[in-house]
Amino acid sequence: MNTVTQRYNDVMARIEVAARKSGRDAADITLVAVSKTFAAGDVEPVLELGHRVFGENRVQEAHGKWPALKQAHSDTRLHLIGPLQTNKAREAVALFDAIETLDREKLARILAKEIQSAGRSPELFVQVNTGNEPQKAGIGPEQADAFLKACTAIYDLTITGMMCIPPFDQDPVPHFSMLAEIAARHGLAKLSMGMSGDFETAIEHGATHVRVGSAIFGSRG
Ligand SMILES: *Cc1c(COP(=O)(O)O)cnc(C)c1O
Repeated sequence: MNTVTQRYNDVMARIEVAARKSGRDAADITLVAVSKTFAAGDVEPVLELGHRVFGENRVQEAHGKWPALKQAHSDTRLHLIGPLQTNKAREAVALFDAIETLDREKLARILAKEIQSAGRSPELFVQVNTGNEPQKAGIGPEQADAFLKACTAIYDLTITGMMCIPPFDQDPVPHFSMLAEIAARHGLAKLSMGMSGDFETAIEHGATHVRVGSAIFGSRG
């Protein structure tokens, strides 16, 4: 029987091995446990293990699930990993501790305004659509440099990292490398890349944050 505890411990052990393999310290890698589609009752065992960093892809769903869980575990850090509509920006700024999906100027402008009026600043990652996939969110790789500059210079936002979701059917390595190169050019230390199927590879290519859902919580059906 595979329990969530066993799966969680297995993912942590695999992170440790991947870190060691690339001469890194596993303490420098944050596991973002992606709890989307799972109920609060499924998340609780992972909180009880002491885990505190979680990812959700929808503001509405997170809003129904997390306020009570966060109240019970105030050191929880919640990451938004799904596309953010500007009309949900206020709610996202209030609920999330990191927004990993900043990818366009309109959103930068509205986030800047909401951060100022809320007096609360979630950490911000810029999402890059490294595969230039038309259906996927993220700033195009050719626009990433200008967009990062605009975030800082025009909107006065503090960006701490970058995020990507490589095309599902391709070798993720060139995508991980591209993200790492863009981040390095801008002195950004955090790289959110790697999911259940490729987090060890992502760690070997510099990931500081891996977003792992099904390998911990089981199949989303
Ligand atoms: C769902 C999701 C994940 C986790 O995917 P798994 O394959 O279940 O680990 C990671 N990142 C994003 C952006 C997601 O939407």
